[in-house]
Amino acid sequence: MTDTLVVNEIYLSLQGESTFAGLPCIFIRLTACDLRCSYCDTAYAFTEGKKQTLAEILAEVNRQATPFSNFQFPISNFKLPLVELTGGEPLLQKNSLPLMQALCDDGFTVLIETSGAHDISKIDPRVHRIMDLKCPASGEVARNRVENLAHLKATDEIKFVIGTQEDYDWAKQQITTHKLAAICPLLFSWVHPLAPAQQSNVLKKVPAGLTRISRQQLAEKIIADALPVRFQIQQHKIIWPPEQRGV
Ligand code: SF4
Repeated sequence: MTDTLVVNEIYLSLQGESTFAGLPCIFIRLTACDLRCSYCDTAYAFTEGKKQTLAEILAEVNRQATPFSNFQFPISNFKLPLVELTGGEPLLQKNSLPLMQALCDDGFTVLIETSGAHDISKIDPRVHRIMDLKCPASGEVARNRVENLAHLKATDEIKFVIGTQEDYDWAKQQITTHKLAAICPLLFSWVHPLAPAQQSNVLKKVPAGLTRISRQQLAEKIIADALPVRFQIQQHKIIWPPEQRGV
């Protein structure tokens, strides 16, 4: 039985899009995704990658984590760096499951970013699942796997990536309909416009008739509506050039 995964990149940076934002994090970006969100900034991960065994991936993670092993972090009760599986869509590769299990066994705090289009129930319960609910402007709203909501728990997070006024209204409606605030933290992430180098004609178009929302408008709507959500921007696009990879 093969124990390989197709990996696009493994790099150390700062977690930027969850309640863990700002903490050192090793990202394992897995190749392939079956969605084509209009705002996707990692289209290069749809096809680019090379096969690596679980042992090779674990060795690389431990190598990148080594400089942190001399420190105790009194602000947190877990070891740093975090390790996050991202993509692409990590759950498209079945060996992402044993990889996450092995990382947890090694004592890492493990996160996964998933589109929400695939079954999350088989993921090791120690993993923090950051699951998207795709909004209308993504062009992929029909792919939300509503059954996943029943599997979420307090250590998970739901992320809405919001680019239009209609996305905001839709997200607000989902929170009410499914009582999401009682389940786990909710993230409202503003869609940073794609840099020219990130645009790809394989991505879905934003459906016609939707109205773009600025990040200021999004922040002010959240405040005005007193929503129990965490506003966020893609931190790495503020720190580094927005099209830079490996950050
Ligand atoms: S789910 Fe959407 S945003 Fe995420 S990698 Fe796939 S196409 Fe890109």
